This record gives sequence, structure tokens and C-alpha cells, in this order.
Amino acid sequence: MTSTKLDLVCILDGCTRLRKARGRCPYHYEKARLAGEFGEPGKECQVESCHRKHAAKGYCQPHYDEYRHELRKRRSSPNPKQHLIYLRSLVGVPADGPTEDQRRRWALQEAS
Ligand SMILES: [Zn+2]
Ligand SMILES: [Zn+2]
Repeated sequence: MTSTKLDLVCILDGCTRLRKARGRCPYHYEKARLAGEFGEPGKECQVESCHRKHAAKGYCQPHYDEYRHELRKRRSSPNPKQHLIYLRSLVGVPADGPTEDQRRRWALQEAS
């Protein structure tokens, strides 16, 4: 009877490393994957747990569509907080609001 330990070892002859995926150790899995043995030559989608073929910008087609959709959404609706920071920067006010000094000066200006 063969030991169960053997089932955990890389299927490649002479390799004693532990299996990671597809019966291969990390080293042989990566080698086979890069060689296109799993029908996925070259790059894969950068999204973790996604193993679809790379299409564009590091993503597979569905994830790339999602990514583009997300970009368009961000461009069409500017963050109101970012907009406020932008307006403040135009008049020389720090991003987190006017300083004590600025407040005092404005109060004086209004009083005069
Ligand atoms: Zn191996
Ligand atoms: Zn993907």
C-alpha cells in the first residue's frame, strides 16, 4: 500500500516538493502554466482568485470591463470633498480648512 504522503507530492518524476495545484509543486505548476500547458499561455488576470486569460491592463475581459466602468463612474461624479479641497487650494486655504490665523484675519476684514 502506498502511503498517503505520496498523494501530496508533485506528479513530476523525481520531484519531491509538495503539491500546490494541478498535481504540481509551485515550481512545476508555474513552469507548466507559463509554458501554456493549461491553455492559458502568458499572463493571467491580476485579480486574486481569477485565473482568466489576460486581456488588457492586467485584467481579463470581464474584469477589464468592470475596471473601465469604475473609472468612468469616478470621472462623471467628482468626490464633493475633493472638490472642496480644490476650491480651498484656489484661495490659499489648507485642505482641512482655514487656519486660526486666517479665520482671525477674515473676521477683522468683515468687521472693517
Ligand atoms: Zn515539482
Ligand atoms: Zn479576472
